[in-house]
Amino acid sequence: MVSQSLPVIVVPPADAAPRRVKYLNSLDQLPNISAEDRELMKKVSERYVFRANDYYLRLIDWSDPKDPIRQLIIPRQEELNDWGKLDASNEAANTVESGVQHKYTDTVLLLCNEVCGAYCRYCFRKRLFMNDNEEVSKDVSAGLAYLREHPEVSNVLLTGGDPLIMGTKRLSEIIGALREIDHVKIIRIGSKMPAFNPYRVLEDAELRATFRRYSTAEKRLYLMCHFDHPRELTPEARAGIAALLECGVICVNQCPMIRGINDDPDVLAELFRELSYIGCPQYYMFQGRPTAGNEPFEMPLVRAWEIFSDAVVRESGLAGRARFAMSHASGKVEVLGVDDERMYLRYHRSKYAENQGKVFVCKRNDEAYWLDHLEPVAGSFVPTHVEFGQSAR
Ligand code: SF4
Repeated sequence: MVSQSLPVIVVPPADAAPRRVKYLNSLDQLPNISAEDRELMKKVSERYVFRANDYYLRLIDWSDPKDPIRQLIIPRQEELNDWGKLDASNEAANTVESGVQHKYTDTVLLLCNEVCGAYCRYCFRKRLFMNDNEEVSKDVSAGLAYLREHPEVSNVLLTGGDPLIMGTKRLSEIIGALREIDHVKIIRIGSKMPAFNPYRVLEDAELRATFRRYSTAEKRLYLMCHFDHPRELTPEARAGIAALLECGVICVNQCPMIRGINDDPDVLAELFRELSYIGCPQYYMFQGRPTAGNEPFEMPLVRAWEIFSDAVVRESGLAGRARFAMSHASGKVEVLGVDDERMYLRYHRSKYAENQGKVFVCKRNDEAYWLDHLEPVAGSFVPTHVEFGQSAR
């Protein structure tokens, strides 16, 4: 795919009327869907909730049933296929307080919101949108108390759901409270709002002032953006990233490999390249977790790694520095390489000290979707807390 020239960034004039997106929670509000398809989708959305907004819907090419933006948010019948687990990497086991996950010694996640600007059909946290649960807490006071008692934690990730859906006042209070905890050096915000609704940043001067105030020379705020496809990098999205950078926020991107959306080296290379141009370089690319409802979006591990590798080798420097990893229950496992017979892996982060930083070698398995489907070769280090040799189906 030939890269297009960068569009001119449109920064709204100070006196421009606010541009607000309209959120949709009903499939009846969707244009361009036949009555028959709508009924099928409704059955899917009864299990896995649907949400979109008019800005993002405008990016869809409705004449193409396989349009990647369409695949990303419009329900598909195959989501009801019996496959995977709702909590595929057992995040619930890391929950130490309501809305608080602590898996790696220095890092705590505060799940402070359970709504997003739209719902990605392939979301690995879709369980949070389904039921009342203890995994998310809008009240972060227990999380703040936990952090005050844990001086080993230097790094906090606000996540959910999407923290940027929250009102600015609440978000500002949370960030302000975190800044009062001296040992918390890095605050990260995981958000797909720069893709789903860039006006959230462009139209809220108070939010930008919050970012400017708390992203200081000594302690930066990081926005972990989530762009999946270069078509999400609209002029508005690019302006949103520019506005964040102007506030002193460090932007990086992370996304999964998703079948039918970005499982193409041309698409990925363009995404990584364009992101590096706008100051939001790719950080991780994730293998999709084998999550219930996600069967139509998942890729075999070897094929996904090949596509990723094909994309990164074309790019130099910042565009090609991303790592390809699985967020497994036991830790973040990077795929270092694959040859005709073997797969080479490494614990980039580990929940268990004995696995930390270890390289291990597994038999090549082109049917495998996840670490548990692999099998270490004789003589390799064998990580603890992994149930190797499970069936991929
Ligand atoms: S934005 Fe993130 S949390 Fe929200 S639906 Fe998409 S993947 Fe899930």
